[in-house]
Amino acid sequence: MKIQVDTHTHSTASLHAYSTMDELITGAKKHKLKGFVLTEHGPALQGGLPHPYYFGNLSVIPHKIRGIILFKGVELNIMNDSGGVDLSVKHIKDLDFVMAGFHDACFTPESKETNTRAMIAALANPYVDCISHPGNPTFPVDYEEIVKAAARFGKALEINNSSFKVRKGSFENCETIARLCKQYNCRISCGSDAHYWSDVGNFETARAVIIGAGINENQLINSTLDSFTKFREKRMNERRAA
Ligand SMILES: [Zn+2]
Ligand SMILES: [Zn+2]
Repeated sequence: MKIQVDTHTHSTASLHAYSTMDELITGAKKHKLKGFVLTEHGPALQGGLPHPYYFGNLSVIPHKIRGIILFKGVELNIMNDSGGVDLSVKHIKDLDFVMAGFHDACFTPESKETNTRAMIAALANPYVDCISHPGNPTFPVDYEEIVKAAARFGKALEINNSSFKVRKGSFENCETIARLCKQYNCRISCGSDAHYWSDVGNFETARAVIIGAGINENQLINSTLDSFTKFREKRMNERRAA
């Protein structure tokens, strides 16, 4: 299974990550990627994370550096159960890829019903393209309802490779998500969630989960540069029309 684009990476601009953007490019080259998305955390996460201006100024970064295409994205925080996120529309509408996810500094884990309602509301938000690490066991959700909603809205659900190390208990949840995505023909993204350069393009366990569920390359939005570009263009058009 080809994965040519990493949809989830963090640089030192997210202050709990440890590599510069140029070092991330070295990691992408090491894993023979064609490109990756820079997805720093939204500004509501504590710890001196990027000011909204950071996202407004991403256009200064060249499209291609040392042969690697650099897509500009964000990992927003789901803030409430009505689809609210932590960056204004003007800063996210022109980004290449917009993820949103639960982080407990911004959304206190609630009952399964409330978490599910919040995640579905984020999927319904026309500016969100993908949910990051939906398999996080800290935030139990009804996976069948999540997958059906993502398929209905044409959004992607992430299988996050770092979750198997830093979000213990994610493996079985991710297997369930991948199996349901196969059943309901929901799109999947595979992200490293690298916080250190050598992890950019590391999809080792996530790839095995995706293959194990019988997901084909057409369902994976970042299997090829071409498939990611098509998903990105469709979502950018939908975001601009919202
Ligand atoms: Zn995250
Ligand atoms: Zn992340």
